[in-house]
Amino acid sequence: MTVNERRGVKPKVLLVTTGGTITMLRGPRGELCPCEDAARLIATIPELKQLADIDVVSVANVDSSNLTPDFWLDLSKAIFQRINDYTGFVVAHGTDTLCYTASALSFLLQELNKPVIITGAQVPLEEVGSDGRTNLINAVRVAISDLAEVAVVFGTLIIRGTRAKKMSVFDMQAFISVNDVPLGTIGLSIKFSDFARLRSRRKPLFRPFLNENVAMLPVYPGIKPEVIEYLAGSHDGIVIEGYGAGNIPTGDKSLIPVIAAAIARGVPVVVCTQCIVGSTEMELYQVGRAALDAGAIPAMDMTPETTMVKLMWVLGQTRDIATIDSMMQKCFVGELHEVS
Ligand code: ASP
Repeated sequence: MTVNERRGVKPKVLLVTTGGTITMLRGPRGELCPCEDAARLIATIPELKQLADIDVVSVANVDSSNLTPDFWLDLSKAIFQRINDYTGFVVAHGTDTLCYTASALSFLLQELNKPVIITGAQVPLEEVGSDGRTNLINAVRVAISDLAEVAVVFGTLIIRGTRAKKMSVFDMQAFISVNDVPLGTIGLSIKFSDFARLRSRRKPLFRPFLNENVAMLPVYPGIKPEVIEYLAGSHDGIVIEGYGAGNIPTGDKSLIPVIAAAIARGVPVVVCTQCIVGSTEMELYQVGRAALDAGAIPAMDMTPETTMVKLMWVLGQTRDIATIDSMMQKCFVGELHEVS
């Protein structure tokens, strides 16, 4: 039984549409395009009204490939301005960049006392076999539940916003929870894990700090140091997706001198792993140790997407390398396991 059912009040949910496959229609050549009237499509799901009084607002209407960090600010502001008016919030979003937005909302909206749920679909609501209907219904169910954090609801999983990753362009279970068990599962009923944050009298905080000028790239065999040199000259921070435990080439085309030079000019270099599961362990190999010695900051078990968004958020607050280093390795919203 939800908190509102116990109180005998019909819950109120704000559904924010942003575009994405869930509300897309086919264009003249069969390509999926944003639909003019996303609210009309949502209105075709009468079950939603059985669960809650739903208001619909649009913050964008694009393929999520076209979303930029200012959208995260607009979206989080739209939610925070109405935070006391609703039981919970649902954001309908394209799946391609959904986990970046989920991470951003997690850092921008902290100490939540109610759920902010993001969902989407692999198949548009208008088409046969769409997962959009079920995902939206489940998202609203979780939005009126006792959960109180930013979470992705997709398929049968409820995933902490900072731990979600799009794993499949095909499966209906498109997202997984990386380096942590899911916050919950959806089956005959909804079950939450012990570590899910539940509703309380916390006072939500809006922490809208964002420096968009961050670059991210993987290392790859043959990568030229000049690539990093260029990024360091044009960005305020760099995320490098290292190999395995955070390993960086140190041979003929060593990246170590350009990493050291970037840090010396005040551009932090954060190293995450390009593996999906696991944490950086940069002391393990000489090739990781060299980058650590040059001043690189390990991302530990954060996903690349969360590492990038967090670096933008941290750089929106400070340019001091030592402070950036300690903030990147501190857990704010369940994004990493701190090393004790
Ligand atoms: N390209 C789409 C988007 O991210 C994919 C989707 O929604 O599934 O907007």
